[in-house]
Amino acid sequence: MRNEELTAVQKNALSVLRQRSEIANGASPALALLRRTYGHAEFRGAQRDVIEHVSAGGDALVLMPTGGGKSLCYQIPALLREGAGVVVSPLIALMQDQVAALTQLGVRAAALNSAVDAEEARRIEQALATGRLDLVYVAPERLTTPRFLALLERTKIALFAIDEAHCVSQWGHDFRPEYLQLSLLHERYADVPRIALTATADPQTRAEIVARLRLEAARVFVSSFDRPNIRYTIVDKADARNQLLCFIRQEHAGHAGIVYCLTRRKVDETCAWLIEHGVRALPYHAGMDSATRSAHQARFQRDDGIVIVATIAFGMGIDKPDVRFVAHLDLPKSIEGYYQETGRAGRDGLPADAWMSYGLADVVQQRRLIERSDASDEYKRVSSAKLEALLGLCETAGCRRVRLLAYFGEASAACGNCDTCIDPPETWDATEAARKALSAIYRTGQRFGAVHLIDVLRGRKNERVLQWAHDRLGVFGIGADLDDAAWRSVFRQLVTLGLARVDHDAHGGLKLTACSRAVLKGEVPVQMRRVVTRPTPLPKAKAESFAHLPPTAAQRLQRLKEWRLAEARAQAVPAFVILHDSTLMEIARRRPPDLSALASIAGIGARKLERYGVALLQAVADD
Ligand code: ADP
Ligand code: ZN
Repeated sequence: MRNEELTAVQKNALSVLRQRSEIANGASPALALLRRTYGHAEFRGAQRDVIEHVSAGGDALVLMPTGGGKSLCYQIPALLREGAGVVVSPLIALMQDQVAALTQLGVRAAALNSAVDAEEARRIEQALATGRLDLVYVAPERLTTPRFLALLERTKIALFAIDEAHCVSQWGHDFRPEYLQLSLLHERYADVPRIALTATADPQTRAEIVARLRLEAARVFVSSFDRPNIRYTIVDKADARNQLLCFIRQEHAGHAGIVYCLTRRKVDETCAWLIEHGVRALPYHAGMDSATRSAHQARFQRDDGIVIVATIAFGMGIDKPDVRFVAHLDLPKSIEGYYQETGRAGRDGLPADAWMSYGLADVVQQRRLIERSDASDEYKRVSSAKLEALLGLCETAGCRRVRLLAYFGEASAACGNCDTCIDPPETWDATEAARKALSAIYRTGQRFGAVHLIDVLRGRKNERVLQWAHDRLGVFGIGADLDDAAWRSVFRQLVTLGLARVDHDAHGGLKLTACSRAVLKGEVPVQMRRVVTRPTPLPKAKAESFAHLPPTAAQRLQRLKEWRLAEARAQAVPAFVILHDSTLMEIARRRPPDLSALASIAGIGARKLERYGVALLQAVADD
């Protein structure tokens, strides 16, 4: 019975495929493969050009943002060319997810790394040498062993792909010495095309990749680094943990996300607090033993809706497409860092959030870290400049995305999908407030931080104020017209505008600068951003495509997710390897009546149609 059913299904699937291949007739072999095997309708951005170039035997360096679709750039040429594609990848977890995903598509793929036992490795090697593999993923240290090189001598090689190619850069924080050995590929296999891929954009890294991998003759493909589906929001820090909780509850209940904190202690505290408040959170930092760490990472990858609270030790190799938000409770060190970390959200192209809370204490903390480090003056200067650029992003009244992209040398127009575009910040004439704040700094002896200064300005007779007799100063109580949040933002902006500075040698007290005098005297007006305390409203795109499925469709989606979870458990692979959220959502919304309707949904390739078609139709059949 079951068998007959399957055969009927397969027949049906095959006829759908035939229809498809007719559609694909006249399409290039690459496009036909994209449609048939991957179930995607069209190439994205530079994919087509890269694939044509590499399939024809050319070398390539591909710079694409995270989620841009780099994998297809080497997978499709490897499938089109004779022989196996050899993919160098730095992380075992990355390789395993890729292999699982390819296997689901019916592509013959395997990984060789330290997680594979000797017998399995021999089987894979055998399959490779006898032409029974389309793609093999290897760790760089294994690739350069005599044993593997000897194996390659016996193998027909379609291409070499070097993933995360920035690992070759000695200046980057992902440096992997074994990557330096990869220049031997050029020396030994001059006629096999090589394609290096990375999401690290800066010109210095690019030049290093070219030089060290001997890619001088490679064509360089640079994509836009924009991630249009990510909404950037930077809020004034008030009570950061509560702000975070509200953000998660209101916009991302039950979603997978990453919360970045600066220190291990803060990771532990924040995580415990989130759990207490009903969020399924797990901690991750370098102070934990490695078994627990990888267990947490694996649960994040595999389960639905886990929030990881982490230091930046949590990063590369996170290849989860459905991370719906990345939150920063502390200021990152640079725009590069911020962009890389936030880039882990929304790889599947669905709406995602990059959310950060930011306050004066962050500025003080990061500046102190730089000033107190043992690094060279040169390094400190560069770090300070990077921090300043990030502060500019935080304080801007213009579009955040325009700022971000400009930093990477890309011109763009206001995006409509960041907090400042959605809810343009008002600026206000803060000349008087600035004068009062600077007077308070001056009259109290340039040795107190913002918290105390705000108490003085607002006229609070607390212990500390009385102890220093600050209630007798002329500035005492002159700032009762603004609330604490407004004053915090005034002090923060004074510091970022260079009108006051933090003295790191004297317990972080605020001091005047050379520019303060003109303001104090009333000679220069000061404009500031008004602090926003109300939450940013949801942008339209999000409401339409994610949160607000009609109720029946939402129930269908729920059933589809339950089915996917069971399937993923049974096969011991992450849920997204079975089908992506975006695909499930389309199925829930469109409720395809038959296999051919199902086949037209993005993400349903021939193999998945065959394998899951009936189950999917059943899951949405009865409402
Ligand atoms: P990267 O390695 O650049 O971060 P991936 O190769 O993992 O990106 O692709 C990111 C996501 O985009 C994946 O979910 C992939 O299935 C999807 N994708 C890639 N190319 C296309 C395409 N042409 N059409 C639709 N989806 C695509
Ligand atoms: Zn914008």
